[in-house]
Amino acid sequence: MGEHSDALSLDALLQGWDGEEIVLRRDHATGATIIIAVHSTRLGLAGGGTRVKTYPSVEDAIRDAQRLAEGMTYKFAAAQLARGGGKAVIAIPPNLDAAARDDLLRRYGALIHQLGGLFSCGADVGTSDRDMDVIAETGAPYVFGRTPENGGAGDPSPATAIGVFSGIKTTCERLFGSDDLAGRRVVVQGVGKVGYPLLRLLRDAGAELTCGDVDTAAVERARAEMGVTVVAPDAVYDIECDIFSPCALSAILNSETIPRLRCRAVAGSANNQLATPEDVDRLRAREIVYAPDFVVNSGGAIYLIGREVLGWSEQATLDHIATSVRETLKQVYALSDEQGIATSVAAEHVARQRIDNPSEQA
Ligand code: NAD
Repeated sequence: MGEHSDALSLDALLQGWDGEEIVLRRDHATGATIIIAVHSTRLGLAGGGTRVKTYPSVEDAIRDAQRLAEGMTYKFAAAQLARGGGKAVIAIPPNLDAAARDDLLRRYGALIHQLGGLFSCGADVGTSDRDMDVIAETGAPYVFGRTPENGGAGDPSPATAIGVFSGIKTTCERLFGSDDLAGRRVVVQGVGKVGYPLLRLLRDAGAELTCGDVDTAAVERARAEMGVTVVAPDAVYDIECDIFSPCALSAILNSETIPRLRCRAVAGSANNQLATPEDVDRLRAREIVYAPDFVVNSGGAIYLIGREVLGWSEQATLDHIATSVRETLKQVYALSDEQGIATSVAAEHVARQRIDNPSEQA
């Protein structure tokens, strides 16, 4: 699940993935590579974010798109939304200037339009609601999360934070028999678009907060506004706490970090938190509860579909997110207990069950 893989051949990447298709386009004007991975259209046409970043190789970018698209299939299914899983990755050269980047996004939009609805995009790491406005110039109507000024529902990250908050409460209920967060110690890794509003929700609920981020201005803001304790980015793993909430990077639960953790549970927004499937067993051996990422971080996806497709009100959508994450997570924990299986495996079972019974999807 790491974002950097050992040199993998294209053949091995295709053999090792059970998804439906990959659209690959070289953007000659910038040297970027656009990858659209469609993992499953079983529940509906595919949707997913657009990740823009620099990768060590095109193979690494393809692998990231594949894994993220698979995660979207499970995320939509677990959230009972009638959408298939997909993801776009745009692997850019370093130091791409802003005007060239916007033109690249317009060409990416044209490609999405050409696909005629097979894949609809939203924002992800490296893109914003403003970028969705640019992509929609050529890609509409297959673009979610434009700014409200341009008719979209805007940045879904605060809604994602509401889902993570609900996941943390549900996990505390499992651990302590109460979802009251007063006095609970929570460590948040990454105080960006999700982590920051999450800190506010946790603070309002009376939690004791610690955070770490490579962006020193962001943590200083959190300290000044909320009195959050700030530690060095790498120190977050070593802090004794109830909940460790990863809201920054993929693959942060691995053979090096898990032995360091001093938490009772992990519940955060980052996608693909487990570096390998075995890492959930490492967590279990240490009796650390793992709240599966694609359940906990489904709030943003639910928000965009609720607001832009299903016509739900803001409040109804936010309420639905909190309930959806809580109920799905409870089901996952119950199945994990009942069958003695890891929570990540139980979450995949729940999602697969929903994929096999599509009539239950919204
Ligand atoms: P973001 O880019 O706004 O925030 C990420 C933060 O992590 C930044 O402040 C960054 O400086 C920090 N960071 C980077 N490297 C770090 C490190 N080594 N240690 C500590 N902090 C580090 O991203 P976001 O939108 O808040 O998303 C966070 C995670 O949640 C990502 O993995 C994303 O894929 C996932 N996610 C986000 C949403 C959403 O709605 N935004 C939805 C689902 C999943």
